[in-house]
Amino acid sequence: MEERDAGPLIRRAGTGRRRRGFILRPIRTEELISIVGPGGVLDPPPAQYLVDQTESRSVRGRADAVVLPASTAEVAAVLAWCYERDVPLTPRGGGTGYAGGCVPVEGGIVLALDRMDRVRSFDPPLWRIEVEAGVTTAEVRRRARENGLQFPPDPGAGEQSQIGGNIATNAGGPHAFKYGVTGAWVTGLEAVVPPGEVVRVGGALRKDVAGYDLRSLLIGSEGTLGIVTAAWLRLVPAPEAALPVVGLFAGPADGCAAIEDVVASGLQPATLEYLDEGTLRAAAPPFLDVSGAGFAVIAEADGSAAEAVALRRELEDLFAASALGVHAPAGPGAIAELWRWREGITFAVIGRRGGKVSEDIVVPLDRLREAVEETVAIGRAHGLDACSWGHAGDGNLHSSFLVDRSEPAQLDAAAAAAEDLFALAARLGGSISGEHGVGLVKDGQLRRVWPPAALELHAGVKRLFDPKNLLNPGKKLG
Ligand SMILES: Cc1cc2nc3c(=O)[nH]c(=O)nc-3n(C[C@H](O)[C@H](O)[C@H](O)COP(=O)(O)OP(=O)(O)OC[C@H]3O[C@@H](n4cnc5c(N)ncnc54)[C@H](O)[C@@H]3O)c2cc1C
Repeated sequence: MEERDAGPLIRRAGTGRRRRGFILRPIRTEELISIVGPGGVLDPPPAQYLVDQTESRSVRGRADAVVLPASTAEVAAVLAWCYERDVPLTPRGGGTGYAGGCVPVEGGIVLALDRMDRVRSFDPPLWRIEVEAGVTTAEVRRRARENGLQFPPDPGAGEQSQIGGNIATNAGGPHAFKYGVTGAWVTGLEAVVPPGEVVRVGGALRKDVAGYDLRSLLIGSEGTLGIVTAAWLRLVPAPEAALPVVGLFAGPADGCAAIEDVVASGLQPATLEYLDEGTLRAAAPPFLDVSGAGFAVIAEADGSAAEAVALRRELEDLFAASALGVHAPAGPGAIAELWRWREGITFAVIGRRGGKVSEDIVVPLDRLREAVEETVAIGRAHGLDACSWGHAGDGNLHSSFLVDRSEPAQLDAAAAAAEDLFALAARLGGSISGEHGVGLVKDGQLRRVWPPAALELHAGVKRLFDPKNLLNPGKKLG
């Protein structure tokens, strides 16, 4: 199988490292060990720290070492060490990203937050928690749930993804439709910024309008402005009940009309997800006969037990007006089975050919049908099977082109198809990413949707934070 490098990677040349034409001094790992201790440096870097989920499209990086600091002070010392020596640093959370964001493309060090996994404080009566960046998404959600609370952001790889990575990508998930993306739940951040300073913005606050919104600037910055070391998160009381309902439709026309009807009706489900025909064929649910259906919508009604039951009934009635069938799983087991199946869709789709090139474009809700249909047409034009699923209520597609990773021609065709997809998003008034970020794989695409003046401001922010361009170089800006 041909292995694709992730970009202009470090090349070892004698005793030096080469970065964009400059020969750099070799990394002295004993100096890093003096900062983080012998257990905190992995040299050579284990292969799993050089990839993320884009590995299924053969993206890999190279680094000189992996560093695992255990405290904010150690993160600051490592970044200062890098800044003094012109060593690139790539922050890494759980490695579940779909944009190649944590894949090191210019060598140097991968700074992994795995050891920063402490809950610093938790005040259930005040609905707030302060956690270090390496705490997993699932752990925060579990802690909240055990105390009758909810941390709503639910990106699909929660057992592995970290809060730091969720903040760095401003991750969403099915429940973002009602509750918003990760940034909506972050009231304060602790971060280390070049050349190695600790900054704290916000805190255990419910409101803060002083100053420019540096917190929001760091949220979604994909490790290019600073390293998130801890966050104060807002929680809410958990809903008493959450009851899903599935509508099966003939195709995108009926399905997308039903989605718009839900929004227009004023009903407020917690999720509003969709699967197109190709996805239904790749990931047919074991608990429901979907043969004959060309589109599925999953809505979840939450609230008090009575509210959830009433809302689900209204959603069932609304779907029934145009659906081929409506399925409302009863009981915790059947509901858990439905969501387990939904979470496994990406892997079922990968299983069709062994790989997929998937992009998370977002479009205005009234253009969703076109985006769903055009995804398939773009794939066909490039000789590839294509399908999509995603967060319908947010107009957010996971448009996927199925590839055999051992076929370089298919990877090239998928890359060309992705270009057409980004052009489609721009044409429909959308954006190139609704969830996963720009990272490495959407390098250069932002200019499709932003005017030059906005791009220049964007680049200026990066220069201000990171004048040496050592923090996650090659990402986000391009
Ligand atoms: C099965 C599956 C389902 C998914 N579903 C969703 C979904 O529904 N919604 C969604 O939004 N995403 C989804 N994702 C993508 C992914 O889980 C999210 O992007 C997640 O937020 C990445 O977190 P991570 O800790 O794995 O970050 P990584 O992949 O390690 O890194 C992602 C980016 O964040 C940066 N970064 C990581 N940690 C830090 C830090 N502490 N400080 C600064 N920068 C940092 C990295 O440099 C990189 O640019 C899914 C992924 C999988 C595999």
